[in-house]
Amino acid sequence: MSQPEKSLFELSSPGRRAWSLPALDVPEVDPKQTFKDSARGDNHLPELSEVDIARHFARLSALNHHVDKGFYPLGSCTMKYNPKVNEKACRIQGLADIHPMLPRKAAQGALRIMYELAEFLKEIVGMDAVTLQPAAGAHGELTGIMMIRKYFEKRREDRLEVLVPDSAHGTNPASVTVSGFKSVQIKSNDKGEIDPAELDRACTDCVACLMVTNPNTLGIFEPEVKKICDIMHAKGSLVYLDGANLNAYTGIHRPGDAGFDCMHINLHKTFSTPHGGGGPGSGPVAVNRKLEPFLPRPVVRKDGDRYRLDFNRPDSIGRVLAFNGNFGVLVRAWTYIRMLGADGLRDAAEAAVLNANYVRAGLEGVFDLPYKERSLHEVVFSGSNLKKYGVKTLDVAKRLLDHGLHAPTVYFPLIVPEALMIEPTETESIESCDAFVQAMKSIAEEAATDPDALRAAPRKTPVRRLDEARASRELDVRYPLTEDAVGDTEA
Ligand SMILES: *Cc1c(COP(=O)(O)O)cnc(C)c1O
Repeated sequence: MSQPEKSLFELSSPGRRAWSLPALDVPEVDPKQTFKDSARGDNHLPELSEVDIARHFARLSALNHHVDKGFYPLGSCTMKYNPKVNEKACRIQGLADIHPMLPRKAAQGALRIMYELAEFLKEIVGMDAVTLQPAAGAHGELTGIMMIRKYFEKRREDRLEVLVPDSAHGTNPASVTVSGFKSVQIKSNDKGEIDPAELDRACTDCVACLMVTNPNTLGIFEPEVKKICDIMHAKGSLVYLDGANLNAYTGIHRPGDAGFDCMHINLHKTFSTPHGGGGPGSGPVAVNRKLEPFLPRPVVRKDGDRYRLDFNRPDSIGRVLAFNGNFGVLVRAWTYIRMLGADGLRDAAEAAVLNANYVRAGLEGVFDLPYKERSLHEVVFSGSNLKKYGVKTLDVAKRLLDHGLHAPTVYFPLIVPEALMIEPTETESIESCDAFVQAMKSIAEEAATDPDALRAAPRKTPVRRLDEARASRELDVRYPLTEDAVGDTEA
């Protein structure tokens, strides 16, 4: 086990400094006197040298797993490698230091990036208009559902239900509920797909829209996607697409052409922004003509060769985020799309699908594969076949950490017991896919020969099994962890 890393406060040594400044040439003031009540009391800031600080954070970065360190097949999240040129672009001084209240004529470059990114996204998904404001996919869902609500309000139609398949990501029903609708679950058929007949039954005149994820969270492309949209439209309802899985079909399929009315795009997933540590992300929403009037305000317009923000949008749902969204993420996505171009985006999707199917072929027969339809960018196995040894999917995931690999997503989608949801992404080489398959095979063998070793995993990580549920409820970022936080409990 590695040495626990002390906190900056524990590393602090009185009088140590990370700066050296010339002597003060103006009278010294005591901030407590000057600011009186508004001055904070004694603030015990840690005192450290620059070396102390740099090494502390370098050590912390090595304790955690990240995509620059190794394979990260976390299904549904698309943890692809993020080219460093994106970081360089968004740190260009004129972009990184730009103030959101700058007058329009001093912000033409930034507005142009936003305008062009929206144009690229429209082209990629086949829709008519885009807002770049939402801060993440879930926020995009909320924004889209709010627009749909306004659409029906305008038409004076009382539709209060949203249909959500049982394979959906948890954010789908959550966004529905937060925006004041009722979420109604529809059952997938035995192939893991939406059944058009079931949908036809469920879609009454109370239904505002259906939320579809395509390819769905099993990694399967809905074969009846056009028919699904037609059924909903025939009943006056709309169709929302959860676009988190766009990486499977950029340059191949355009949701707008299939009939979707609205979708969000997770820029941090498909268009390569570092994520997984909590953000920042970006979840632009693309819509067709029906929903365009309701887009958040403002939108970027181009008049001749000049760009401006258009606030004059009387039917807009209003702002969903301060200023213009997470601008740094927009710059990264713009850079990434420009760098790959149309052909490159298609290549990326094809390689992502190829890698998922390569891993699938390597693991068939080793783990159960409950849904056997053709996989796109991810594949969902089940660890149920290891139950006879008293081994769970969680044990497999924890053992993978000892192999220096990040675990796949586990226990999601909910319709697969003991689920292992694997998404290698296009940025992995055949060698890293092979290494993952090898590790998974050796773990499956170990389940039969030495199940205790699996249940005791991980052994080589800085901490063992954490109480994950408690960690999110009682956030404590101090280190070293107290004894009882390192218990053997499961999430
Ligand atoms: C990631 C994801 C979301 C939520 O997106 P965030 O950007 O994490 O808010 C929604 N649906 C699916 C299928 C996802 O994979």
